[in-house]
Amino acid sequence: MSKVKALIIPVTPFQQNCTLLWCEESKRAAVIDPGGDLAEIERAIAQAGVTVEKIWLTHGHIDHVGGAADLKARLKVPIEGPQRDDLFLLEHVVESGRTFGIEGVKNVTPDRWLDEGDTVEVGALRFEVRHCPGHSPGSVAFVNEDQRLAIVGDVLFAGSIGRTDLPGGDHAQLLASIRDKLMPLHDDVAVVSGHGPTTSIGRERASNPFLL
Ligand SMILES: [Zn+2]
Repeated sequence: MSKVKALIIPVTPFQQNCTLLWCEESKRAAVIDPGGDLAEIERAIAQAGVTVEKIWLTHGHIDHVGGAADLKARLKVPIEGPQRDDLFLLEHVVESGRTFGIEGVKNVTPDRWLDEGDTVEVGALRFEVRHCPGHSPGSVAFVNEDQRLAIVGDVLFAGSIGRTDLPGGDHAQLLASIRDKLMPLHDDVAVVSGHGPTTSIGRERASNPFLL
């Protein structure tokens, strides 16, 4: 079984966790949620000595997707995800940038929409797509149970859960997504969140105050 490697690169003023993920055997990589600071992302790619073949998006918020169109143009790779219900966010990234005073972002047109049960592949690695609406309607998580790794965007955090006061957010739906799509995973599955430290399913199951 080829091993997965992951490097987290906090980007943008929101300190969003962009993840560079690769297949150890083939050195083929995916960049997940390139929100901005492309120079730092490209430096990490060079240092890791990997070839990026995909950009994956967990959802359509500006801090996760602001640099996706530019990175796609530079690397000439397809953008996969999120789920189609985040179209309204991806079409208004520039406008959202104006609200937050962030320049240099672009709207995003994915090459492939993702949905529950789809798989995405990089090198010899396959990740299962789980549609987790609630933080945004089109949020997805990328799950590889064999490798004990889940990349969940802003659905679940160490000791917290995603905010639901933004357009399309729904608290009850978010709790249902976490309960039905993430909590069935093994305790030792590592959880890479969109912000803050990495955690695990077991730790959140035992101690996350929003899930008790
Ligand atoms: Zn978000």
